Amino acid sequence: MNLYNIKHPEEQVNFAQAVRQGLGKDQGLFFPEILPKLDNIDELLAMPLVERSQAILGAIIGDELPKETLNTAIKNAFTFPAPLEKVTDNIYALELFHGPTLAFKDFGGRFMAQALKAVSSDQKITILTATSGDTGAAVAHAFYGLENIEVVILYPKGKISPLQEKLFCTLGKNIRTVAIKGDFDDCQALVKQAFDDKALRETIGLNSANSINISRLLAQICYYFEAVAQLPKEKRNNLVVSVPSGNFGNLTAGLIAKSLGLPIKRFIASTNANDTVPRYLQSGLWQPNPTVATLSNAMDVSRPNNWPRVEELFKRNQWHLSELSSGMLTDPQTEQALNAMNNLGYLCEPHGAIAYQMLASQLTKNETGIFLCTAHPAKFKESVDRILDMDLPLPDALDKHNKMPLLSDEMDNDFAILRDYLLK
Ligand SMILES: *Cc1c(COP(=O)(O)O)cnc(C)c1O
Repeated sequence: MNLYNIKHPEEQVNFAQAVRQGLGKDQGLFFPEILPKLDNIDELLAMPLVERSQAILGAIIGDELPKETLNTAIKNAFTFPAPLEKVTDNIYALELFHGPTLAFKDFGGRFMAQALKAVSSDQKITILTATSGDTGAAVAHAFYGLENIEVVILYPKGKISPLQEKLFCTLGKNIRTVAIKGDFDDCQALVKQAFDDKALRETIGLNSANSINISRLLAQICYYFEAVAQLPKEKRNNLVVSVPSGNFGNLTAGLIAKSLGLPIKRFIASTNANDTVPRYLQSGLWQPNPTVATLSNAMDVSRPNNWPRVEELFKRNQWHLSELSSGMLTDPQTEQALNAMNNLGYLCEPHGAIAYQMLASQLTKNETGIFLCTAHPAKFKESVDRILDMDLPLPDALDKHNKMPLLSDEMDNDFAILRDYLLK
């Protein structure tokens, strides 16, 4: 598999390099040189998730990795289902939250961890990342127990929810978590200093495992196929998929799935009040506003960093951006949508509710709709309890960690101390 840097197309890398490097020159995103067309879609849709994903990713990545290695990585990453639930006659929910941290980021994170291990042979790697909550959990669980990979996660002491902290600071083994006496920006600044320190970087094999890594997108393609595979055959035409979007990685993966040949008629890019993309699609003007805090806080992004990949896909496929539907929901509208869904008998959370409502309002009569549910309702328990006037029980996965002791170290906001800690 060959990839090029969208900003500097002359910079070309293979799959292993793209996974290890993450980003190209000038923070440019890597993009596949060839977008294959799969001619056996019906056959693929008849397969189980893991086998089908092995076939799809095998076709994209090619023979750079031994088949056995890639197949094992996929089998180890995809250890939980992505069920499609019927919500109304023509609307279905794709539930992507049955992984260890109860959010769709488990798919991308777990495959990235496996891919990084597969392309690094016996080199020692240290993953260093700063988190304000959720990404830390997905990274910690994805890399937990992998040989030759050390993970160090920095977070601002006392500034993330106790439940979030319990979810990733109770693992131990190769996962070290550090409560920094400072805020999230301090944590990010420490990470940046570490990456700027060449001697340190080389000694411990620093890697960021960041969210724009191509391996994440490849993993996410697979659940779009899984969604269509679960639809009754007569509902597979005229399919519309609504994606709750923040950094637009999820939508990018869906568009790649369509480009491979998955029969999806159109997508809806659904956002909260951070609606740079819906406004851009309306007016042709890219005008990010300052980011605002919303109920669907994982989508509080006003400069989505995967957008250049979306545009590249449209260009490469000779699609027109006017074919991409979009829309935004305010917080009060999101609350209404959650209530409406609850009345239909489907319990959701703010991100999924936005995707549902955009779909319900834009779906035409002979279309079938799928919306993506990106997090378990209990991950947003405070909002869901208040809006729906209930007391959601904690799912077992959360409850188990909630009862375990915290294993974090505490540290002053001081790079010299962190440096020693990393070298230890
Ligand atoms: C990250 C996240 C999103 C946004 O996904 P992108 O790929 O960044 O667009 C939506 N919902 C939840 C719950 C998330 O954690």
